[in-house]
Amino acid sequence: MAAHDFDLFVIGGGSGGVRAARIAASHGARVGLAEEFRYGGTCVIRGCVPKKLLVYASRFRDDFEDARGFGWSAPNAIFDWPSLIAAKDKEIDRLEAAYQGTLQRAGVTMFSDHAELVSPHAIKLKTDGRTITAAKILIATGGTPSFGETIPGLEHVITSNEAFHLKALPRRIVIYGGGYIAIEFAGIFAGLGAETTIVYRSEKILRGFDEDLRDGLTEALQKRGVRIVTNAQITGVEKIAGGLTTKLSTGDDLVSDQVMFAIGRVPNVEGMGLGELGVERGWNGHIVVDEFSRSSVENIFAVGDVTDRVNLTPVAIREGHAFADTQFGNKPWSVDHELIPTAVFSTPEIGTIGHPEHIARERNEKIDIYKTSFRPMRNVLAGRDERTMMKLIVCGDSGKILGCHVLGPDAAEIVQMAAVAIRLGATKADFDQTMALHPSAGEELLTMRDKWIDPS
Ligand code: FAD
Ligand code: NDP
Repeated sequence: MAAHDFDLFVIGGGSGGVRAARIAASHGARVGLAEEFRYGGTCVIRGCVPKKLLVYASRFRDDFEDARGFGWSAPNAIFDWPSLIAAKDKEIDRLEAAYQGTLQRAGVTMFSDHAELVSPHAIKLKTDGRTITAAKILIATGGTPSFGETIPGLEHVITSNEAFHLKALPRRIVIYGGGYIAIEFAGIFAGLGAETTIVYRSEKILRGFDEDLRDGLTEALQKRGVRIVTNAQITGVEKIAGGLTTKLSTGDDLVSDQVMFAIGRVPNVEGMGLGELGVERGWNGHIVVDEFSRSSVENIFAVGDVTDRVNLTPVAIREGHAFADTQFGNKPWSVDHELIPTAVFSTPEIGTIGHPEHIARERNEKIDIYKTSFRPMRNVLAGRDERTMMKLIVCGDSGKILGCHVLGPDAAEIVQMAAVAIRLGATKADFDQTMALHPSAGEELLTMRDKWIDPS
């Protein structure tokens, strides 16, 4: 008779938890998994996937406008928010069922319940009331939107969670924050026709990204009609007839139909009994783990956003996979958190990998910069004056590419493939020697011949 009900119990059926459960089961482990909301987690239910669907929807505005330059004439297009949300929800239902099917086929026992730890080997299911034991426990509970300090009127504010389910497209929206979610949703709402204002507490949006990306995107968003209010904090939100008034630290008021907070996310660790078990936690409550995702308690592990390493879906998935192979497949390996490509699905979008210029300069004695800005071919006939920006940061000694930054259509797709070469240690000379694929935007990354010289 086995000492525990399961070899592994996973808390959280999102990107990291589902991958870990499936792989551990494929190695022969008896696996249980609890999910308190919907299978698939943030990415599938209220993150990457529904977000990208809304991004696609928002970009049809450009397509309709640009079509005229290519000989098309079409009657004025009309957008219907409820139809979009219904179509998106149908797709999310399909994906959730696919995730459940995957777990079922892998032989994972699923519990649709909130789970909390009652001892290092025991989990209590909240609704069911049952206590389950497991040899190893994996916490993959993700994160949840942060609201910052309590301010008056916080009850009127929405987050990305609610933005996916609004009954109507707001005519005017204020978005608080200057990171991924704020910028992506500003693009979505503006593209769909809402008067959009970003309020950001500091000087320039997208802190940490390359300065050329930050400047280029700021300019592009403003040209597209997004208002960006910087050096301002939201101090309160009041309900008024026909909308909301947002009060700013600058003394200004903004009137809108919705106010959305996108000021970061916090790890989901509340009410899980971690403190009592002595599981070490970091500055924002995240679970501190070693390179093999082991917490300070021997048999308790954690992967994904709850560990606040790099909060992206492919990272959570890979951490879950590495954990399962290491603990149950006799194949120990750990995730390399360097050189992770990432995109901001704004319009125009950002794709980036490696160091931004300011970090490369801090870490290398000599670096060379190659950059280009051009009007994408489609924009010429379309009569659109938006430009694409591409930038390579190259080590002055070895010629190795340290960073690649793209702002423009298909930036994510371009950088995903450049990432393979950069990860393999490609040099600028390797890029130069690679035959261009013509006509494409990506070829411009290979044809930058002259080092950029700072005109100042
Ligand atoms: P999650 O996917 O969040 O899964 C955690 C699961 O645990 C949830 O389903 C939750 O319900 C469950 N849970 C929590 N507590 C308990 C409990 N006590 N008991 C039972 N179940 C519990 N990343 C990208 O790479 N690309 C993108 O384009 C992108 N877009 C995003 C857009 C938005 C709006 C958001 C919010 C995030 C986005 N992300 C994106 C980030 C990405 O979604 C996360 O990094 C990823 O989902 C993390 O996976 P995870 O397994 O750690 O957690
Ligand atoms: P981000 O960390 O990207 O951005 C948070 C923003 O809120 C920053 O501009 C930050 O300002 C600001 N902020 C933080 N705290 C406060 C505060 N107390 N008051 C006012 N402003 C504040 O978080 P997001 O919520 O946008 O997204 C969460 C994470 O999800 C991302 O970091 C990313 O890992 C992931 N994600 C990935 C996406 C993708 O891959 N395309 C898309 C969406 C999310 P400052 O810069 O000054 O600190």
